[in-house]
Amino acid sequence: MPIATVNPANGETLLTFDALGPEETEQRLAAAAEAFRTYRNTGFDERARLLERAADLLDEDRDVIARTMTTEMGKPLAAARAEAAKCAKAMRWYATHAEELLADELPSKADVKDSGASRAYTRYRPLGVVLAVMPWNFPLWQVVRFAAPALMAGNTGLLKHASNVPQTALYLEDLFRRAGFPEGCFQTLLVGSGAIESILRDPRVAAATLTGSEPAGRSVAAIAGDEVKKTVLELGGSDPYVVMASADVEKAAATAVTARVQNNGQSCIAAKRFIVHTEVYDAFVERFAGAMAALTVGDPMEEATDVGPLASEQGRADLEELVDDAVHRGATVLCGAERPKGLDLGWYYAPTVLAGITPQMRIHQEETFGPVATVYRVDSIDEAVELANDTPFGLSSNVWTRDEAETERFVRDLDAGGVFFNGMTASHPALPFGGTKRSGYGRELAAHGIREFCNITTIWHA
Ligand code: NAP
Repeated sequence: MPIATVNPANGETLLTFDALGPEETEQRLAAAAEAFRTYRNTGFDERARLLERAADLLDEDRDVIARTMTTEMGKPLAAARAEAAKCAKAMRWYATHAEELLADELPSKADVKDSGASRAYTRYRPLGVVLAVMPWNFPLWQVVRFAAPALMAGNTGLLKHASNVPQTALYLEDLFRRAGFPEGCFQTLLVGSGAIESILRDPRVAAATLTGSEPAGRSVAAIAGDEVKKTVLELGGSDPYVVMASADVEKAAATAVTARVQNNGQSCIAAKRFIVHTEVYDAFVERFAGAMAALTVGDPMEEATDVGPLASEQGRADLEELVDDAVHRGATVLCGAERPKGLDLGWYYAPTVLAGITPQMRIHQEETFGPVATVYRVDSIDEAVELANDTPFGLSSNVWTRDEAETERFVRDLDAGGVFFNGMTASHPALPFGGTKRSGYGRELAAHGIREFCNITTIWHA
């Protein structure tokens, strides 16, 4: 895959970049390791000052970087601005909270005595150089979600970003440098995915985090496993959106649209499978499909646009294949299932709702990375839970119900890293984020995220 900015709204190649050669990569690895030697000894106050400065700069740059993101991967401009604002918020959150999240932990006096110690505690020390392999869909947020806690913990970072967002990748390196982080603390490596293995095997790299597809995650985790290096994997999702009979159907249908088409439908935590109780099925589906069909698809730079193009031609082809397979096997098209008229230059796809899904259809098991929803009718909570869990993924889940007993049942039985009631899944710096099953392992954000790349060190005094 070439390292290039190609505008998904018209297919135009705007800027191409040469990949780093072995010598330049070596220089950057050496700089990251060198930076870690001193940066690890900085105090939380100093790190917080730098990260807050980065947040301020990002706020100042918001419009410019939002346009860059929209140009590189097609998200609506308003969403790009919101993403930049969210990144600044996460930076400030970690700048404020890292010290308390990584404070020494003391066991009870009785346990200290029982261990034979006069004094014992746990300290969270930084791990070293962390390689971050990141996707294009939230090109700022995915990186900041890693970088803010990693830098606050005293680690240094190497970013291998997706090949279609090189300008956003270079912006991030520049941002942290302008904020005053010492040379080598955060660097972007413009390399293809073929270069990852040797970087990850390098003894100066301590660990890796990958957000992306399952094949990419499997590959990075296998190499890291071979080297006995820690990994965090944030992979795909096919989140259920369950609407029970007691739900506020109007609200559930309106939120369902945003939950499905946010980021042009290319979000790992987008709701993808809509599982609706038979008592409210017709009312929900009519509203949902009607609102999906009414969305404005078009140029992502236009403020009025709800849904822009998919990020790549291949991404649209993959989505079309899934829809065509379902339709060929008997799915009912409630709206969409075609390229929108008059938008031939870009990689657009109409918001789509499919019903009559059977387990034989690929779409039943595979992730739809675009504005395509599947709806299912269920007769009971047992059926809803079973269908919600009938997926290889386990990222998050959404449930609409006003019944307390039902709520507890979903909390107990949904096999996912999150259960969001009467709303849609969204990440927040204070709430851990991550999945089960093929959606990956480990957690980002909150205390859990910052501790992933720490050496949890036991200190024991006789
Ligand atoms: P992708 O193709 O896996 O790319 C992600 C990153 O991995 C890119 O930097 C890519 O580099 C690299 N990569 C690709 N193949 C690789 C391989 N075999 N070995 C090592 N690295 C490799 O994924 P994507 O298409 O950008 O993103 C979409 C996927 O990410 C979806 O499945 C989505 O659900 C998932 N995602 C998950 C989360 C989460 O938090 N769980 C968030 C966002 C997205 P190149 O660009 O150079 O190929």
